[in-house]
Amino acid sequence: MTDTADIVVVGGGVHGTSIAWNLAKRGAGRVMLLEKTGIAAGATQYSSANSRLHYQLETLAKMALFGQNMFKNFKEVVGGDCGWNQIGYVVLLPERDVEPARKIVEMQQRIGIDARIIANDEISEMEPSINLDGIVAGCVEPTSGHCDGALTARSFSEAAEREGVELSISVEVLGISKRGDGIEVETDNGAISAGNVVLATGFRTSALLDQVGVDMPIDPIRHTIAVVERAPGISDGHPIISDHVSMAYYRPTGPGLTLIGVNDPLEGDPDDEVELERAPEQEVQVELASRFAGRYPDQADARLRQGYTGVYDCTPDFQPAFGAVPGTPGLFVDAGYSGHGFKLSPAAGHLMADLVLDGKTSFVDMTPFRVERFTENDLIPAGGGYDSRILA
Ligand SMILES: Cc1cc2nc3c(=O)[nH]c(=O)nc-3n(C[C@H](O)[C@H](O)[C@H](O)COP(=O)(O)OP(=O)(O)OC[C@H]3O[C@@H](n4cnc5c(N)ncnc54)[C@H](O)[C@@H]3O)c2cc1C
Repeated sequence: MTDTADIVVVGGGVHGTSIAWNLAKRGAGRVMLLEKTGIAAGATQYSSANSRLHYQLETLAKMALFGQNMFKNFKEVVGGDCGWNQIGYVVLLPERDVEPARKIVEMQQRIGIDARIIANDEISEMEPSINLDGIVAGCVEPTSGHCDGALTARSFSEAAEREGVELSISVEVLGISKRGDGIEVETDNGAISAGNVVLATGFRTSALLDQVGVDMPIDPIRHTIAVVERAPGISDGHPIISDHVSMAYYRPTGPGLTLIGVNDPLEGDPDDEVELERAPEQEVQVELASRFAGRYPDQADARLRQGYTGVYDCTPDFQPAFGAVPGTPGLFVDAGYSGHGFKLSPAAGHLMADLVLDGKTSFVDMTPFRVERFTENDLIPAGGGYDSRILA
């Protein structure tokens, strides 16, 4: 028998759960959330969950600010916990990146973000054991920090349930097709006829869109995170450091531990066996630890504790695909965040509820991120002055 819903959200990551909560809170009718494995089973569980505001695109800076304000007030606004830890964020800039960073900071200040350029002296005052070889200045965001990715998705899903969302876990969507005025969702547990469907399915979104004749390429690219036990000399409360020379980021993760990831989304491997868990390779972890030790020389004795790998859902321009799917009324996409989507999830949920319920987004224009930009070859320009796409 075919079930019915007003809206089906597919994907129980931090985006799907945020979208479902936002829709239900706005009284969207019967909202179902379908997840094939478990809440936060995908990229969300491996996320470093950094919430920085350093974006070249003003739209993304505004979305990140929206998200950060929600993380800070999560208990009051959403309920539950997101693991917010406001430790600040510092970008280390080589000469070539100073001008682009200045432009970003000017834009940030104009839209109300607390960010500024700082001299090396100030970086050294904050981080006395840091080695500033190759660095001529920094950007600091005192209000930034990080969350816990899985905890945030869990809290969004619980808040969604409190608002009446029906969660179906271990239900995989096998197919979607147009049916009358709505969408037919075929699952491994029967069919659902829905007025609207939102796909928040990460890299798996490409295969689902294929079924309605839409070509939206998303490559699964696997990234390694190394976690080290710090040697003495650097504190638990060190800020998140995004190093534009070693192209890595360092952030504390529990007492005595720092996690290390790479800034460039292209540094990982496209993965044919993406459905499998994959342990990190020792040599990649050692390499990451050596970047950390290069920046903090007394961390040459830091001990590798553990590592893990997670998958970025990378679009050709490393920016999200957000919006209605052309040719299939009622079908929407929110995916392809290319390794920087955690911090944008509160805004994406809010904006998707706007789009589905009002036909347009409220506080930013999401047209540049539309799904059809890939076939139109209207990609979002890279860089904004930086040589590579800096994510952390
Ligand atoms: C190692 C790593 C570090 C990161 N660090 C940061 C960071 O510091 N800051 C930041 O902002 N971002 C970061 N990111 C990116 C961020 O984590 C992701 O952009 C975000 O978690 C994506 O959330 P999502 O809900 O879109 O996707 P996912 O979390 O991947 O969720 C998609 C869900 O859809 C489900 N699904 C897929 N297909 C189907 C189907 N057919 N039927 C039912 N369910 C389905 C999957 O099981 C999965 O649970 C990082 C990512 C990784 C991997």
